[in-house]
Amino acid sequence: MAPSRWRILEGKTAAITGGTTGIGRAIALEYLRQGCNVAINHLGLERDEVHRDSLLEEAAALKAEKVQGESTSKAGDLLEVIGDVTKVETGELLVQKAVEKWGKLDIFVANAGIFQAADFLTWVFAMVGRIYANWIFCRMDHELFDRTVRINLNGAFYTCQAAARQMVKQGHGGSIIGISSISALVGGGLQTHYTPTKAGVLSLIQSMAIALAKDKIRCNAILPGTIKTQLADEDMKNDVKRKYLEQRIPMGRVGNPEDIAGPAVFLASEELSPYCNGTQLLADGGMFVHLQ
Ligand code: NAP
Repeated sequence: MAPSRWRILEGKTAAITGGTTGIGRAIALEYLRQGCNVAINHLGLERDEVHRDSLLEEAAALKAEKVQGESTSKAGDLLEVIGDVTKVETGELLVQKAVEKWGKLDIFVANAGIFQAADFLTWVFAMVGRIYANWIFCRMDHELFDRTVRINLNGAFYTCQAAARQMVKQGHGGSIIGISSISALVGGGLQTHYTPTKAGVLSLIQSMAIALAKDKIRCNAILPGTIKTQLADEDMKNDVKRKYLEQRIPMGRVGNPEDIAGPAVFLASEELSPYCNGTQLLADGGMFVHLQ
């Protein structure tokens, strides 16, 4: 964690989707620590309550932290907005609430995403149709594929578009960050429904970088390797898979959510990354380049 005294994002406003757990949560906390006000989106489900409550507690603790040279805390404030990113209005509401509270939006992080390992060819017994439901055998649950695309790619598109519209209206630029993945660059046998969505997020960011540069909005992607979050839980619980991943990573460990927070501060900061636009920042401990 970076020392609070830096306050690299002081006075800025950010919005982050999927902000109560994992990578989104780590970014939200680091932005708060760096002096940025943050609106996070979450689904508002009962199972999220515990994460939401502990996040609010951590945010309050950051605000209460005594930092040398500050008479009152310059840590940012946190706002939560409920919504499902597959719905167009969710991104619009998230942006609207942040602007209502803090008057502007400077930084946007499209982070919400899902992953559930699944075999490409395995036949599953699935229900098709609602009224005259039939049970049939089909290849990989197409609902899983559709849902993964809707959340990971459509969700990123809708929310980034809402953020970009606001930033263009304001006229003073901004930074949009898409959380893609190392899976945008390499495949996985149990990821045929997932890797195309992460390649899609990278591609979306690249095209947005061109479309929005004239408005001084920088668009960049972060490509995490394997990060210890609930999304990678299955891999982490599987000893064989975890050991295999660890030996593939030259740094010898899988990542923590906090490993992605620093790169997200860097790309958010106009001072630190003013000429980064359309870039893809791999944060994977060297896994991608590890041939032998
Ligand atoms: P995570 O802890 O599960 O975070 C994903 C968040 O998105 C969760 O809070 C989840 O809420 C939320 N979410 C899911 N569907 C949503 C929807 N329809 N609307 C709004 N929010 C929704 O996992 P993570 O690893 O931090 O993942 C964050 C991003 O990093 C994802 O885009 C993922 O693809 C990417 N990534 C992760 C890894 C890794 O190894 N962990 C590697 C590369 C890239 P719920 O908790 O309620 O489901």
